[in-house]
Amino acid sequence: MGKIAWVLFLCLAFVTPFTAGFQQNFEKQTNPEPEKKWKIHDPDRPLPPVVDPGPAGDPVPAPSDAIVLFDGSDLSQWTGSKGESARWKVENGYMEVVKKTGSIRTVRGFGDCQLHIEWSAPLPATGEGQGRGNSGVFLMEKYEVQVLDCYKNKTYADGMTAAVYGQYPPLVNACHPPGEWQTYDIIYRRPHFTEDGSLIRPAQMTVFHNGILVQDNVELMGPTANKKREPYKAHADKLPLSLQDHGNPVRYRNIWIRELE
Ligand code: MG
Repeated sequence: MGKIAWVLFLCLAFVTPFTAGFQQNFEKQTNPEPEKKWKIHDPDRPLPPVVDPGPAGDPVPAPSDAIVLFDGSDLSQWTGSKGESARWKVENGYMEVVKKTGSIRTVRGFGDCQLHIEWSAPLPATGEGQGRGNSGVFLMEKYEVQVLDCYKNKTYADGMTAAVYGQYPPLVNACHPPGEWQTYDIIYRRPHFTEDGSLIRPAQMTVFHNGILVQDNVELMGPTANKKREPYKAHADKLPLSLQDHGNPVRYRNIWIRELE
């Protein structure tokens, strides 16, 4: 190879990867992320595949450094959404949503955390779509991991079981049948704001449903909402965890949390 050919070869070999990297970064900055191309609750958004998670297990014991938020006996760690006594039913080691009593929230606030929560959808299953076994786990009362019975029940992808509601469908549909206990293990990183209230870092979530990865460190676009994508608004570093009363008698048991900050 002649001298000029060598120079050309070296240029191509070393410069191309850098320009490719630059181009990728440039595209990331100028094009919306693929998730954002979908309209909220887009009926055309593909549904994830169904995966059988295997048989439902026993309650997962709380580790020694966890704060137990519900051990099956009482709602002392919870209040109603305005601070009044929580009015959900407690029996046989679980709590159950009582329609129209409102969502409940923890007395304490939490920021970054690892949350374990077990739930079960009503049996027999009644209602369809969003009307079947609907509840929700809200981190900081703002960021919902959907609770829904999607066992042989179709709804829009970003509203399915274990969806980050209105933003990210689960990677797979790992539902147990209604009446069986299911688990969520959530790793949550809170959003960070500057003192003047602008966003430095969005909230992030990783979720396992029945032990299966369904949200892989996704960056939340803002608070979750129905039919709209809300922008971030600066808020406290720690806020209560809440569980949704969506009118369906969903049950919860064995709730514990580990603070990560
Ligand atoms: Mg819900």
